[in-house]
Amino acid sequence: MKNAAPCPGSHLARGGVSQSWLGGRTSESGIRVGLVSLGCPKNLVDSQKMLGRLNAAGCDIVSDPESADVMIVNTCGFITDAKRESIKTILEMARLKNGKKQLIVTGCLVQRYVDELRRELPEVDAWVGVFGQEAIPEIIGVKSPQPSGKEPFRALTGPPHLAYLKIAEGCSRKCSFCAIPGIRGLQQSRPIDELVEEAAELASHGATELILIAQDTTNYGKDLPGTPDLISLIQRLAALREVRWIRIMYLYPTRVTRKLLEMIAGESKVCKYLDIPLQHCQGDVLAAMRRGGDRMSTTKLIDKIRSVVPGIFLRSSFMVGFPTETQRRFKELVSFLRDASIDHVGVFTYSREEGTEAWGLGDPVSQQEKRHRRSILMRVQNEISANINRARIGEHHEAVVEGIGSNYYLCRISGQAPEIDGITRMRMSPDSDSRRLDPGDYVNVRITGASAYDLRGVRQ
Ligand code: SF4
Repeated sequence: MKNAAPCPGSHLARGGVSQSWLGGRTSESGIRVGLVSLGCPKNLVDSQKMLGRLNAAGCDIVSDPESADVMIVNTCGFITDAKRESIKTILEMARLKNGKKQLIVTGCLVQRYVDELRRELPEVDAWVGVFGQEAIPEIIGVKSPQPSGKEPFRALTGPPHLAYLKIAEGCSRKCSFCAIPGIRGLQQSRPIDELVEEAAELASHGATELILIAQDTTNYGKDLPGTPDLISLIQRLAALREVRWIRIMYLYPTRVTRKLLEMIAGESKVCKYLDIPLQHCQGDVLAAMRRGGDRMSTTKLIDKIRSVVPGIFLRSSFMVGFPTETQRRFKELVSFLRDASIDHVGVFTYSREEGTEAWGLGDPVSQQEKRHRRSILMRVQNEISANINRARIGEHHEAVVEGIGSNYYLCRISGQAPEIDGITRMRMSPDSDSRRLDPGDYVNVRITGASAYDLRGVRQ
């Protein structure tokens, strides 16, 4: 089980705040830019867009901060751990500064705390919130080349066969613990045509797996003229010939409709995989979180999903230590988790955030107790995941090759999302491998072994 953040739209990769150096592109200008991207895939998309603009403006994108003339830190800032990691990274980058280097800090942390940051960190040359990142080329003194008004193609910094598609910005829900609407504003969906155009461009660069992200993907389109929905968006994306897998992340539980599930069941390109952050199951806790639902309705939802889409993989995240979570209510969550038998689960401890409604409830559960509850939930889930994975032995799945080891391929079946879920190690077999596979190739795998996180298999 890997860690995940409480906000549906903001999972953290690999058990903590993800941090990645993006770079490795060259261009004609003498200005070398390095960027470190923190936090969730939505921030990663913003980072790739910034690099795309800088690259189009003639900058060289470098992966080594020491050799950069301009360093950009794209921060995350919606919970305490993320804020700490962001500050630590800014200070690390500031230490590398010499007379010539420029340090620009952008992203959620800046959006939230720009005045304090400006006072405390004079080493930083420019602060840019989540809005206004288009101005960064100008800030560093290069010209943004947008004669047609068209956004330059974003720099794809990860494996070329997968790309995140941010279908909306912001969030119009009001979960009481969440700082995101205050940081990124109300939901603004992107028009379907624009998304299809971006997806086609991503596909032409080799992307075969599209991962749809937003704070709440089920609310897609409600703010657009004609109120298109997620279903119509997915149908348009599925028509792109090169696209093989479409993965939907961050669904809001009470908005998962039968119609949506039927589309998922019937559309072969949509991964039979859903990430639905539930946060809790106990009715009073969910009410105080301003999310609604209770154990019975959540159980019914899971049953409905499994009956409409048999064999579906589920991922969820839960929050422990919310102010109104008593021992009894926590025990109910543990018992729910045992019954629900969810494939992939992340557990987060509550972080009291200024500007949120839940701030007024105080923070009565101690940090030690929150960590204790988290470890209990993780231990329980560990057993569940191990059982689920063992029961998969003998199953056949389509998988994508992610990497190549000494005598195995690192693959992901469609029930494993990149970064947050496990992987499938597929043994190389001289008999069945008529040709060596490359990252991005799709294969059929028979599962032959399992642990709590990962699967093993052979090629079919
Ligand atoms: S307010 Fe929106 S972004 Fe925050 S947890 Fe709720 S659904 Fe997610």
